[in-house]
Amino acid sequence: MIYDIIYENARRRLDYLTPLPVDCGKLCDCACCKGDKDTGMYLFPFEEKFYENLDGFIIDDSELLYSDGTPVKFISCTKPCDRHTRPLSCRIFPLFPYYKKGTSPKAILDSRAKGLCPLLYPECACYIQKKFYSEVELLGKYLAKTPKGADFLESVSCILDDYLKLKG
Ligand code: SF4
Ligand code: SF4
Repeated sequence: MIYDIIYENARRRLDYLTPLPVDCGKLCDCACCKGDKDTGMYLFPFEEKFYENLDGFIIDDSELLYSDGTPVKFISCTKPCDRHTRPLSCRIFPLFPYYKKGTSPKAILDSRAKGLCPLLYPECACYIQKKFYSEVELLGKYLAKTPKGADFLESVSCILDDYLKLKG
């Protein structure tokens, strides 16, 4: 399946590459990993296969729907993960490959992270590695060529628009 190839490549490329060349968790005491069982992240289409039978994760249907009416999966973690198992949403945080039909995906700061992630402050954002942006964008470019991937990217991009309107 094309998704397996895209994800295995992205998981490998984003295994050690992080937003900053140093551990950004030291800036915020790992704020993005301080959720509870009700806090979590969307799984990319078919990404749930990586978490079947993996301890420490709960997968559920989210309220976000693909255009065929099936729910986007949602994952939460019940304990600190082994970083090599992180879902893609964690690997690319605080960026997202913003996509609208007819355009090329662009890695942008994820407006959902505002108020949580210090990297969204302009004085910090400029330190996010260019390579990190380009890897997130590459993931988006591959996914946007798949029907469900494009659907997912566009739906989440609309959510980012809504957050931007709400949070400024
Ligand atoms: S991505 Fe942001 S919130 Fe997460 S550890 Fe780094 S600085 Fe903290
Ligand atoms: S899966 Fe890992 S990286 Fe993602 S929020 Fe949970 S502990 Fe943090």
